Amino acid sequence: MAEKIKLTVKCHACGNVMKGTAKYGKGHYVPDDLDFQFIATGKLVSGGKSRVKGDVFIVCPNCEVKNKYEI
Ligand SMILES: [Zn+2]
Repeated sequence: MAEKIKLTVKCHACGNVMKGTAKYGKGHYVPDDLDFQFIATGKLVSGGKSRVKGDVFIVCPNCEVKNKYEI
């Protein structure tokens, strides 16, 4: 089952706040409304539920600085 990932990333250069969601399925993800790269690094398990853990790379549409964000 696809897992929904919600993102709120503040650009470290200009302060622009970027928001988006993606669906993460088996070995791939599909961005919904914001274009970003997602690299899964593992899983977090708590209370019987697991969610994906990874690094997100997103290019700020305002100043084109690449931001890294961990989820
Ligand atoms: Zn920016």
